[in-house]
Amino acid sequence: MMLKHRDFILGLALFGSENPQHINKSVFKVIVMKLSKIATVTAIIFAANSVMFAHAAGGGAVHADHGHGNSHQHFHPQGKPPSKHTLALHESLKKSLPFEDARDFEESKKGFIAKPEFTKIMADAGHVAWDIGSYQFLLEGKDFTSIHPSLQRQAVLNMAYGLYEVVPDRIYQIRGFDLANMTLIKGDTGWIIFDPLTAKETAAAALAFANEKLGKRPVVAVIFSHTHVDHFGGVRGVVDEQDVVSGKVPVIAPEGFMREAIAENVFAGNAMARRVQYQYGVLLARNPFGHVDQAIGKNIANGNTGLIAPNKFISKDFEEVTIDGVTMVFQNTPDTEAPVEMNTYFPQFKAFWAAENITGTIHNIYTLRGAQVRDALNWSKHINKALYKFGDDVEVMFASHSWPRWGKERVQEVMRAQRDMYANMNNQVLHYANQGVTINEIHNVYQAPPSLQRQWAARSYHGSEGHNTRGIINRYLGYWDGNPTTLVPLSPRDSAPLYVEMMGGAAKIIAKAKQLNEQGKYLEATEILNKLVYAEPQNQEARNLLADAFEQLGYQKESTGVRNSFLQAAYELRSGLPQGLAPRPTGPDVIRALPTALWLDFLGISMDSRRADGMNFTINLITPDNNEKFLLEMSNATLTNIADYQAKNPTLTITVDRADLNGVMMGITSFEALEEQGKAKFDGDRSAYEQLKSLMVVFTPNFEMMPGTVNAAPTPASANRNNSAPRYDAKPFEYVIYTTEED
Ligand SMILES: [Zn+2]
Repeated sequence: MMLKHRDFILGLALFGSENPQHINKSVFKVIVMKLSKIATVTAIIFAANSVMFAHAAGGGAVHADHGHGNSHQHFHPQGKPPSKHTLALHESLKKSLPFEDARDFEESKKGFIAKPEFTKIMADAGHVAWDIGSYQFLLEGKDFTSIHPSLQRQAVLNMAYGLYEVVPDRIYQIRGFDLANMTLIKGDTGWIIFDPLTAKETAAAALAFANEKLGKRPVVAVIFSHTHVDHFGGVRGVVDEQDVVSGKVPVIAPEGFMREAIAENVFAGNAMARRVQYQYGVLLARNPFGHVDQAIGKNIANGNTGLIAPNKFISKDFEEVTIDGVTMVFQNTPDTEAPVEMNTYFPQFKAFWAAENITGTIHNIYTLRGAQVRDALNWSKHINKALYKFGDDVEVMFASHSWPRWGKERVQEVMRAQRDMYANMNNQVLHYANQGVTINEIHNVYQAPPSLQRQWAARSYHGSEGHNTRGIINRYLGYWDGNPTTLVPLSPRDSAPLYVEMMGGAAKIIAKAKQLNEQGKYLEATEILNKLVYAEPQNQEARNLLADAFEQLGYQKESTGVRNSFLQAAYELRSGLPQGLAPRPTGPDVIRALPTALWLDFLGISMDSRRADGMNFTINLITPDNNEKFLLEMSNATLTNIADYQAKNPTLTITVDRADLNGVMMGITSFEALEEQGKAKFDGDRSAYEQLKSLMVVFTPNFEMMPGTVNAAPTPASANRNNSAPRYDAKPFEYVIYTTEED
């Protein structure tokens, strides 16, 4: 389907006019599709229902339009097939990779009971929350030359769909209903559920299907293995909050769960939301030229995401709990795949639940959406602990993603492969760093040991060795390579024109880049084209050539996040970024769980310091219903806050219940409205409040990533070139969180 920049702008203008009957129907449909895909992943899984969101979020359904029946055609008019260089690379990989080892396929099919008639799961709001059918092309038994052969293998393995038995009459999994698996443990009277998926709708559908096939049983306990949303967001689909509050149904999580479930996405949340569009390739159609897999599953479900606070926390290294006749030995594994996470051993069944610590891929040490670099060595050590504590007895290992492994030897083999891969990356990267290899070189120097390269369980579909090894140097040494030239580098926009001038101008660069692309030297082509695109953002020929190079690099990558990032950037260079997404108010579950102090810190991030020069005030904030007090101080164009202190002579005192403040944070009410209702009290000089309000900027996940991208908002670094002002918000204190799969 053809779609050019003009069409985007035209379509969006009409879309905004609420007069869609005048739009060419197909253009309108595509616009909605583009918006929907962004909405799907970035615009707040915690979204409340809204007409816009419901309308725009038909993700799966529109993928079907784009993907089905059309799977061998590129989804973009300027898209290219794989080049002869890409084809040759894939052919050589087919010979060197251990395809003769097909045990993963047997294991992923073992215990299959049934799959549902349906392939789509609808959200309560009326749109498609999940559509496994949009990836049907992967089951045609074809080799797709636009997909790295190892990634295609993984993408097929992740097509498991339905109900599976892990331990006869005791442990079951629902796979392919969401990014993660839902696991059901049969107790004496009911189900113990491990990790209730991302959305209420997919979780409810999974539980209903299990009950239909295995006999209806009540949910007697829920376990959150860790703090990522694909492991707790669907909890309202399997349990009633009253039963948790009353203590009737235990909800168990590792110590620190509530803090970490919120904290990871707060301060840099908007930047992460924009970057996750790259990691998850949200503008890509689901077809062999676009989105094919997400390493630990197909994609993220798009439905109602919630959070119920656990009523029991696991704090010891190992802790035994028996519920409904099922004994569980929890193993805390903090600072591994998530800030807090826990494995579980079931001694009665000789079964080991590896949470997300051991799955069918090497994971992200550094995650491309952006997050603090994880501790690969610590991760390896926790796998080792599990191996030595449970490995002699274990008969099956299963996890929150991927498929189980049966038999002690096989389980130990996989545990060792991943233990060694994480440790090897950490140790060998530091081995090189200690001899002077820098963050700018390590990905070209490090190679996994040949014995690990030949094990599927040690391959990197989620992380990649390239970005993980750079992350490890970043964790220990930071971003600087030690060369003063890179200590205070020119901004790319400032260095690029100098390069272009010295290289002899655009025509020469374009001629050379064409030659490099034809030779399959895609990285070299990106090196010079990137300079030209920064120097001349409106040079569409340069942008198209850079997109061509990115596209081939994407086809060549084994890691989903890396593939998607190259392909998404190619899309944006060719067509620009669709606009029109408003930030969504955060859902009530998360707002309730957000500590006031964290929100106040976020106000310090949201205010534009440049406009606060000369402002001096103090505000005492009192929230009587939860007995909290804060002192906010504006000085030196900086907002700070401290809990449990009050200014003796504050400029202003605001008294409001935290329960009412939640509405302000969600953007569904304002301080002014609360004051009118008698729910907020202002004592003193309210100009302090007015000044603070005037500084607040709303963040939206549509800023420019590639220079000059059509429709993308300029960044402050590029804004002085086109005088774009920051967007001050009508609801200045709204707290916007973009939930991301933390993976
Ligand atoms: Zn996960």
